[in-house]
Amino acid sequence: MKRLIIKIGSNILASAERGLNTKRLRAITKDIADVIDRGHEAVIVSSGAIAAGLKKLGLKEKPKDIKLKQAAAAIGQSSLMWAYEQHFADFGKKVAQVLLTRDDITNRRRYINAKNTLFTLLSFGVIPLINENDPVAVDEIKFGDNDMLAALAAGLVEADMLVILSDVEGLYSKNPKNKDAQLIRSVQKITPDIEKLAGGKSSAIGTGGMYSKLIAAGQANDHGIPVVIMSGKKSGLIARLLSGKEVGTYFHPRGQRMSSKKGWIAYGVRSKGAIYLDDGAVKALTEMGRSLLPSGMVKIEGEFEVGDYVRCLGKDGKKIAKGLTNYSSKDLNLIKGKKTSEIEKALGYKYSDEVIHRDNLVVV
Ligand code: GLU
Repeated sequence: MKRLIIKIGSNILASAERGLNTKRLRAITKDIADVIDRGHEAVIVSSGAIAAGLKKLGLKEKPKDIKLKQAAAAIGQSSLMWAYEQHFADFGKKVAQVLLTRDDITNRRRYINAKNTLFTLLSFGVIPLINENDPVAVDEIKFGDNDMLAALAAGLVEADMLVILSDVEGLYSKNPKNKDAQLIRSVQKITPDIEKLAGGKSSAIGTGGMYSKLIAAGQANDHGIPVVIMSGKKSGLIARLLSGKEVGTYFHPRGQRMSSKKGWIAYGVRSKGAIYLDDGAVKALTEMGRSLLPSGMVKIEGEFEVGDYVRCLGKDGKKIAKGLTNYSSKDLNLIKGKKTSEIEKALGYKYSDEVIHRDNLVVV
């Protein structure tokens, strides 16, 4: 558990009326500085810019207007950074600001640039503080909320664990307002029943809520990264967790940790279309570690070019894999269901036997 990503939500750090909660921020920075002193690396994904900005703008609650939210984020981000910088300095730590949009993750070159910067910062012992670049992020280039940003950042820095600090102790068997609600200690797999426990409701100041935390946890788990959702309102919990004590709710990773390249294919890049597969091809991809050949394709959806990323779906539409296609959708329509020996005759050329090579494919 060397490299930790720690996601800190707005609810813990700030409120619209009072702005930043510096007492809590100090306690959290101390906790994180402590675990760094014990040999861990930390990357922080922190919200709180909008909430901090609202107070400075004299607004009592989070506005609906996107321009106001962006202005609040721009005003609040500097306060947020300044607060972290001052408190971490007291514990001998340096911080660096890294603002990202969804586009920075989707675009392979920017993704690699961000990764190189983050790794360089870590090599200097600096704590990268990531937030969404809210003033420029609208709609399709937005992560939506920082839980999802944290899951993608965990894949980006190949984190050993994602810790989500929340205003509740973890995932409960029912709404934690009920007296008999029980804290669930460990989740093997995020099933629809588990998702139901999260209720799907957003909290007032952040945009996340437990539901989005579960989606983010599931995504990090798919990268092979364990996730803990726990309280960010109590001190000393991160150190307790790292000493092996039960804290919050632990979400088990699925398989080995993916390389950041595979993580990017699976969750970073957006797909341009889909290829429906027969059962034999599904088995070849999921159980035998094979590449995708034309013979296993039954239907092509969408328009895409060579080098685009596409989803591979089962006949029922279930997502099986994602990968980089060696043929355009137009050509795939001409070779679907055919043997590899028939590609050249059908197209007049052959780029490769594989439609998607195994090295450029991730089973999800
Ligand atoms: N990026 C936003 C902020 O810093 C918060 C987004 C979220 O946590 O949902 O205020």
